[in-house]
Amino acid sequence: MISNSSIKVRIAPSPTGFLHIGTGQSALYNWLFAKKMGGKFYLRIEDTDRERSTKEYEESILGALRWLGLDWEGEVIRQSERTQLYRTALEKLLSEGKAFYCHHSQEELEAERQRQEFEKVPPRHECNHKDLPLGKEGGGIIRLNVGNSIQVISFEDQIKGHIEFKAGLLGDFSIARTVSDPLYNFAAVVDDAEMEISHVIRGEDHISNTPKQILVYEALGLPIPLFAHLPLILAPDRTKLSKRHGAMAVVDYKKDYLPQAIVNFLGGLGYTFSKDLLSREEMIAEFDLSKVHKSGAIFDTKKLNWINCQYIKRLSPEEFRTVSGIQEISDSAVPLVTERLEKLSDAQEFAYLWQEPVYEKELLNWKTSSPEEVKNSLTQTLAVIEELENITDEALRSDLDKLSTATGNKGLVFWPLRVALSGKDKSPDPVQLAVVLGKKETLKRVHKAIEMF
Ligand code: GLU
Repeated sequence: MISNSSIKVRIAPSPTGFLHIGTGQSALYNWLFAKKMGGKFYLRIEDTDRERSTKEYEESILGALRWLGLDWEGEVIRQSERTQLYRTALEKLLSEGKAFYCHHSQEELEAERQRQEFEKVPPRHECNHKDLPLGKEGGGIIRLNVGNSIQVISFEDQIKGHIEFKAGLLGDFSIARTVSDPLYNFAAVVDDAEMEISHVIRGEDHISNTPKQILVYEALGLPIPLFAHLPLILAPDRTKLSKRHGAMAVVDYKKDYLPQAIVNFLGGLGYTFSKDLLSREEMIAEFDLSKVHKSGAIFDTKKLNWINCQYIKRLSPEEFRTVSGIQEISDSAVPLVTERLEKLSDAQEFAYLWQEPVYEKELLNWKTSSPEEVKNSLTQTLAVIEELENITDEALRSDLDKLSTATGNKGLVFWPLRVALSGKDKSPDPVQLAVVLGKKETLKRVHKAIEMF
């Protein structure tokens, strides 16, 4: 692959929660773009919110990205380890009068907000204390000196096209609590510039932050990257996907889904690939940032389950044992399960393939047949199996068909055998079960069923 050292992208999750499925998708598109362009994909942990950030969440985010197979370049970058960088940049802005300490109290800011709400103008703070000595630390938070500028801030979004904002509507927005405690819109800019990020690819919920960040770049005299805002994933009711619609964290999907299914599903939610099931290499080859959809797609669990099902079917016995954690299952039993699974955790419904089933005697009864008839049928089946050197599908099926013809009641032969082997009223075909369980185990289970009478 060609290497293009000028293409650098990043994903910048905050460790204040688990990796959100939407952030997982953003990570995927960043990763695909970097791979496609021969660029680099970085991981930056935005842990400036010290109260809400935890190491556990960070570990979980790293684990989720690894599970999805979205490998990043070099070491993890942590904002908490870069305080000096932000401090230097903040002090520069303060000394140049481009930022200032705001001395307004919470009450004054609240009154301003209420007045703006009443006047139906966008909420913002226009500070009229800027001429106070700039260096007066401790007076309050640090704001960017925007004022009621008439500047129009515009950018060419790589997905959404031309976007513009009036700078004056932003007010003197806050950029740090103190020189060593920067806020997101400031720290992200300093980092993206320092990391030489060429394309900021993130969810469209960040569009409103972009003009603020552009003003920070300008104030610091730093080159502005390209922006690409991804459409949000929507819930079936077309509202923003949230907890009330089900699992939101990538880790929540681990017990049921294969990572490649998640990758294909998330990829397809904002992009039209040539098919539903693609390898990573195929996704990379097809990906074109400018072709990402402009509007969001609905999170369709049925589609996700279908994709998952297709990948589960392709698992080898060894792979299945690893992903399901079910070590006891035999090679020949695996296809009986994988052919029928949408979610990995449902494999437990097939536990009779690797452990003896427990069930109520009544389940063995077939329609109107009497218990004697059922017991008789099982006894004849037992004799048939004992006769076989080992169970093959063909031999057992033809013997049981003969038994059925003799009694004129197919159900009376096959139903009790199904229950004896699976303990369930629904299972794969009982002959298949017998083949997979083998002669010894099949005889044991049929015996046990007979003894219940
Ligand atoms: N920490 C921000 C988030 O998790 C990063 C946004 C960005 O990519 O700039 O949403």
